[in-house]
Amino acid sequence: MTLSGDPSHFEAGSLVSVLTDQPLDRFLDYKAPAGGVYAGAFVEVPLGPRKVIGVIWGRGQGNYDLAKIRAVSRVLDLPPMRAEMRQFLTRVADYTLTPMNAMLRLATRAPGLADPPSMRKVYALGDVTPTRETAARTRVLDVLRAHNGQHFTKKELADFAGVSGSVVDGLVKLDAVLEVETPRDVAYPKLDPLMAGLELSDSQQAGGETLRATVAKQEYSTTLLKGVTGSGKTEVYLEAVAECLAQGRQALVLLPEIALTVAFLDRVEQRFGARPAEWHSGVTMTERRRCWRMVGEGKAQLVVGARSALYLPFQNLGLIVVDEEHDTSYKQEEGVFYSARDMAVMRASLVGASVVLASATPALETWVNAASGKYARVDLEGRYGAAELPDMKAIDLRAQDMEAQSWISPTLVHEVEKRLKKGEQSLLFINRRGYAPVTVCRACGYQVGCDDCDARMVEHRFHGQLICHQCGETKPVPTACPNCDVEGRMAAVGPGVERLEEEAIRRFPDARIAVLSSDMAMTARVLKERIHAIANGEADIIIGTQMVAKGHNFPLLTCVGVIDADLGLQGGDLRAAERTFQLIRQVAGRAGRAQKRGVAYIQTHQPDHPVIQAILQGEEEEFWQAEADQRRMAGVPPYGRLAGIVLSGPDLKVVFDVASYLSRNAQGLQKIGAEVFGPAPAPIARVRGRHRVRLLVKAEKATHFQPALAAWRNSVKLPRDVRMQIDIDPQSFY
Ligand code: ADP
Ligand code: ZN
Repeated sequence: MTLSGDPSHFEAGSLVSVLTDQPLDRFLDYKAPAGGVYAGAFVEVPLGPRKVIGVIWGRGQGNYDLAKIRAVSRVLDLPPMRAEMRQFLTRVADYTLTPMNAMLRLATRAPGLADPPSMRKVYALGDVTPTRETAARTRVLDVLRAHNGQHFTKKELADFAGVSGSVVDGLVKLDAVLEVETPRDVAYPKLDPLMAGLELSDSQQAGGETLRATVAKQEYSTTLLKGVTGSGKTEVYLEAVAECLAQGRQALVLLPEIALTVAFLDRVEQRFGARPAEWHSGVTMTERRRCWRMVGEGKAQLVVGARSALYLPFQNLGLIVVDEEHDTSYKQEEGVFYSARDMAVMRASLVGASVVLASATPALETWVNAASGKYARVDLEGRYGAAELPDMKAIDLRAQDMEAQSWISPTLVHEVEKRLKKGEQSLLFINRRGYAPVTVCRACGYQVGCDDCDARMVEHRFHGQLICHQCGETKPVPTACPNCDVEGRMAAVGPGVERLEEEAIRRFPDARIAVLSSDMAMTARVLKERIHAIANGEADIIIGTQMVAKGHNFPLLTCVGVIDADLGLQGGDLRAAERTFQLIRQVAGRAGRAQKRGVAYIQTHQPDHPVIQAILQGEEEEFWQAEADQRRMAGVPPYGRLAGIVLSGPDLKVVFDVASYLSRNAQGLQKIGAEVFGPAPAPIARVRGRHRVRLLVKAEKATHFQPALAAWRNSVKLPRDVRMQIDIDPQSFY
C-alpha cells in the first residue's frame, strides 16, 4: 500500500528532518525506516556512536551528502507528537528565543521513553479450588474473592493476606490463582464528572455556570477567576473541570507548590471519586513514566502538576487551570526562561481549550487583560459560609517601644497573648529564610560575604553555618573576624525566620510553636503532616516565610502578624509594589477562614506609604488601577515589552566588552523602535565566581521584537567562557 498522497507520511528511504534532544541547534536529516514513518513519530536515530531520541519534524532539507545520511534506527512505541504540540513547541521557542532541542527536552522529561512498554505480572482469582486449603491459602483466596475481578501484584496480594509470596506461587501452580502479564503503565482510575459536588453558594453557582458554559464551547478563551482566599475558587473551577471531563476532553490543573497538591488530590477524589495523575518533582520516576505515557494515550483525564506539566503530550486538551496564577514560581528562570501562565494561554489558543486563571490577587498583567476585555472575568463574592475577611491594622513601628534585638512589637505581643488565652492560633510572617541576613564584626564593621558571589552570607542556625543564597556555598560561623582577627565580636544583625522563632519562644514560653519555612529541608510528606497538624490545632503560634502565604487552610487561625511589611518595598523593582501587595494580602487572608473573624497586624515604618495604605484599606481595584496607570506612563509591562539580558563570565572586562559591543551594535533593534539600556553591573554583580552584566531591551507593546533580538544575539560570537541569557518578559532583575 502506498500512502504517497499523505503529506505527513514519508516512505522508506525518503529524507526526513528529525529534531533530537541533543544540544545541537539544528534539525538533522535521516532516511525514513522500512515501512515509512509519519510526521510526529518518536524515533531513535544514530548520532555518532550513540542512539538518541528524536521526533520526525517533516521533509528532510537534503543539503548534505546523500550517501552519508543514515537511516532512522527505529520508530518508538509511543503515541506520535501531535501537529499542534509541534506548533506549540515552535511557538514557545520563538517567543522565548530557546533552541528547539531544549524544547524537546522539556517535552520528553520522563524516563525510559525509548524502552518498550514494560510488562509486569499480576494475580487474579483462578477457577480451580485447591483440594488442600491451608489457613494461609484461604486468606489469599478470600482477598481475591472479596475483590473479585481485581488484579494485585504479588507483593500487594501477599501483604494484603498477610502471607509470604511463596503461598501465592503455590496457588498459581494449582491454577487456583491466575498469573497474568499486563502493561506496567496502567490507565488512571476513571473520574466521574457527574458526581455531585458541594452545594454551592449563589455567587459560586453563577461563577461555576459561567465557566461551564465557556468550557462547553470547546474554543479558546481565558477567564480570570477572582475571589478572596476562602471564597471557593477551587470549588468553582472544579465545575469547569467537570464540564471538560464530561465532554471527554483532558484537563490540566497547575499549582504553584507541591505541598498544595496533596490537599488538592483529596478534593479531586471527593469531587470525582478517584485521584488524578500527578506531575511534579516529587513524583517517582515510575509514576512519571506512567503519567507521560497515559496522558499521551488519553488515559489520564486530569493532571495536577507543576509548570512543566504544560509540556505533557495531551491528546485532547480542553482546559488548563492556573491556580494562584500570580505566583512567581510559574516563571522558570533557568534553562528555558518562560512563564507557565502565559504559555498555558498560548497552548490553549492552539488547541481550542479554555484557560482559567484563579487568584485572590492577580498579576497586574492578568488584571489589565481582564479590564481590557482580552480575558473574561468571574468574581466570587466574599468568603464561603460564615468566614469573613480579616480586619487589617497597621502597627506603626516608629511609635512602638521596641526592645533591642527584638522584632515583635509590644502591641503584637499583646494580641498574640490574647489569642493564646482564647485557644486560637496566631501566625507570624517574615519573608526571610535563615537566622540573620548579615553577620558583622563589631570591632571593624566587616560583613561576611560569599567568596564567589557579590552577596552577604546568611546565618542558618538550624544548619549551624553561613549559607550564600545565590550559590549555596557554606562557611562556618566565624568566632574571630576574618578581617581584623578580633575574637568574639561577630554579631548577627537583623531577623530571619529562625531568629523570629527564637524570640517567640522567649516571649511565649508556654506556647506550642511550629515553623514553616522552605529551608528546613522538609520532604513533601513531612510538610504535609506538619500542615495537617497545625490545621488540627496542634500549634498555638505558626512562624513562617512565603511558604505559608500559599493556600493552606488553618481554621483556628485568627491573628496574623506581618513582621516587616517594608521589606519588599525596598529595591525599586518594577514589581515591588505589586509583589508586596499580593504577598501581604495573601498572608493576611490566612486569618479567620472558618467561623471566627481574624485580624491582620502589619508592622511598618511607613504606614502612609501608598502600597501599605492600599493593603490596609483593601481597595484592590483602586490599587491595580493606580499601578496600571503608572506602568502605562512608564511604558513598561504590560504596556510595553522588556527583555532582560545577562552576560556572565569569569573576567569582568571581557564580559563588559561583549555587552558594550552589543549595546553599540543594536541598529536592528533600533530600526523596530526598541531601545537598549546598559550595560550595567547586575544588582548581584557576581554569582559563583562569574561577573554579571545586564542589558535591558525595551520596546512598544505592539512590537514583535523576538526576530530582531535573535538576529542581534546571533550577531556576536561569544568568547568561550561568556554566557548570555535572554529573559523575555523578565519578572526579576537581579
Ligand atoms: P479558595 O480556593 O478561593 O481559597 P476554597 O475552594 O479552597 O477557596 O474554599 C475554602 C474552604 O471553603 C474550603 O475548605 C472549602 O471546602 C470550603 N467551601 C468552599 N465552598 C464551599 C461550599 N459551597 N460548600 C461547602 N464548603 C465550601
Ligand atoms: Zn555565593
